[in-house]
Amino acid sequence: MKVHLKALGCRLNEAELEQWSQGFRAAGHAIVTAAPDADVVVLNTCAVTQEASAKSRRLLNRLYRENPAAKLVVSGCYATLQATEVANTLGVDLVVPNTEKDQLPYKVMETFALPVMPEIATEPGENSLFVRGRHRAFIKIQDGCRYRCTFCIVTVARGEERSRTEASIIEEINQLTEQGVQEIVLTGVHVGGYGSDLADSSLHSLVQRILAETDIPRIRFASVEPWDLPEDFFALFSNSRLMPHMHLPIQSGADSVLRRMARRCKTTEFSQLVSQARSSIPGFNVTTDIIVGFPGETEEEWRETVNFVEQMGFGHVHIFTYSPRAGTKAAGLANPVIEALKKQRSQELHQLAECSQQAWLQQQVGKTVPVLWERSREQDGQLIYTGYTPNYCKVITSPHDARDLENQITTVRLSLASQEEGVLLGV
Ligand code: SF4
Repeated sequence: MKVHLKALGCRLNEAELEQWSQGFRAAGHAIVTAAPDADVVVLNTCAVTQEASAKSRRLLNRLYRENPAAKLVVSGCYATLQATEVANTLGVDLVVPNTEKDQLPYKVMETFALPVMPEIATEPGENSLFVRGRHRAFIKIQDGCRYRCTFCIVTVARGEERSRTEASIIEEINQLTEQGVQEIVLTGVHVGGYGSDLADSSLHSLVQRILAETDIPRIRFASVEPWDLPEDFFALFSNSRLMPHMHLPIQSGADSVLRRMARRCKTTEFSQLVSQARSSIPGFNVTTDIIVGFPGETEEEWRETVNFVEQMGFGHVHIFTYSPRAGTKAAGLANPVIEALKKQRSQELHQLAECSQQAWLQQQVGKTVPVLWERSREQDGQLIYTGYTPNYCKVITSPHDARDLENQITTVRLSLASQEEGVLLGV
């Protein structure tokens, strides 16, 4: 059977795709890149914003139109929160809620009576990473979250914290390393909570074991809530295989807003965490998320956020305009911010974020750093490669010779690229 896998939304959804593709391939099924070629199409949906839900619905309809004969399987947050609606959507054959998604390949094979044993033996540990053209793999280390931030629908959809064992994570990383993957990104809903449900385990011990028991050249973290980090966490970064960048979502620069959001970190604690990281790790890059127009956000609170972003020197700010999600506490909060004001604040923050990013990139100019090259394209007869520095700055380069740089780590000197925003030039 040919299976097509597609994900929308977060990196966790992407990481799950990798796991499912391993499950299908281990049973002898093939992963195909085009939906019209597939016998089974699986969509991992997202519901983090209203727009993400709408996009999930649109994609579902499109996948059905492209291949009405295929079995259509839907999982993920949107499929879990709107299970009945999704199950009744034209063409949908099976809905797998988040609580059962770890067994998705098995459920699909069982429901559609597909063979669960390999027809053709696959190499042990072979997976779809290179089939899908990836040089960086997302490793799901845990799922779920014990917190209830008032805007967050993901935590409602994903349930309590569940961690994978350290041994199974190490095994997956070793398989990926053997296949030539150069970089892994440790992913989860609440990464800082890793190990809380296991005996004798923590994020600290997991990272220590990955460093000791694997040879993966680069290790990153995806988004990590800025609390619950182990005491001596930043000391781990003295090993240069741990990349000096973290995405720490603060969400607002006003403590009163953070309180209404039920966040577990206030601005002073966040600043202290960032100072700690920057003083112990050279070139440490901090990026963040900000929600604009949370219910009741006053002009004063907004100015506090602007000042906070100005002071923090973020390498990148991911800006979300707040929109209420049914099922969250924030949806019922008083004094919603009017759309026009949200738009105005978002524009102001975009400008500020751009200046902050430019200033950060300017600080990188002149440094000589190793870059993992990922993709190439042709421009005016020249091959242009894109890659990332250890501290996650995007770099482009055009080699003088005909060397294939894809999936290679080479050292370049950085200068500012003017033609494309937010990009450095490697020479
Ligand atoms: S900590 Fe993160 S995942 Fe958990 S409730 Fe808050 S925003 Fe959602």
